Amino acid sequence: MLHKTEVAEAKRLSQALFQKAGFAISQLEMDNLEVADFGLGEYRCEGSQIITIVSTNRVGFKVICLLPNQTLPEHWHTDYNGVEGKEETLRVIYGSLFLYLPGVSSIKSGFIPRNKEECYTSRKEILMNVTDQITLEPGIKHWLQGGKEGAVVLSISSMATCAMDPFSDPNIIRKPIVEGEEGAACNE
Ligand code: ZN
Repeated sequence: MLHKTEVAEAKRLSQALFQKAGFAISQLEMDNLEVADFGLGEYRCEGSQIITIVSTNRVGFKVICLLPNQTLPEHWHTDYNGVEGKEETLRVIYGSLFLYLPGVSSIKSGFIPRNKEECYTSRKEILMNVTDQITLEPGIKHWLQGGKEGAVVLSISSMATCAMDPFSDPNIIRKPIVEGEEGAACNE
């Protein structure tokens, strides 16, 4: 569970990064920013902050903010209810991002969260800087980690079916639970 003070702190830190990225967002979008701890209770370690800009039956456009060294846990985008899992393009607009994909292990600058070896199976490290982008086919296991300055990343995708997406860590609860509030909806 997330504490309200943690949500407020995550929002404040994220807002600073959006400003550094030069990505203008409205107060309403900021209010609706989703702070996710994936039910693991340590959002600064495994978590992310996400603004949904567009989510229709055809396309999804989200802005993902990762604080320094914050990890968005390994997941993949599967078919759901006859809808193909989403294709996702990631583009970095601030900071640096470590993206991990299946392949020969090459982790050297980023790291697997402590005691979570079995939950992070994709270990080919790709460093992405501002203006770098990559398109991931549906079904590819991936996870993200903010670099030293954190990262602001655009996620442009086909229809976001992500509320149903599987994660490698069986302890993950996708819907964030904030002290005294109903959980919010979807993710990256
Ligand atoms: Zn994804």
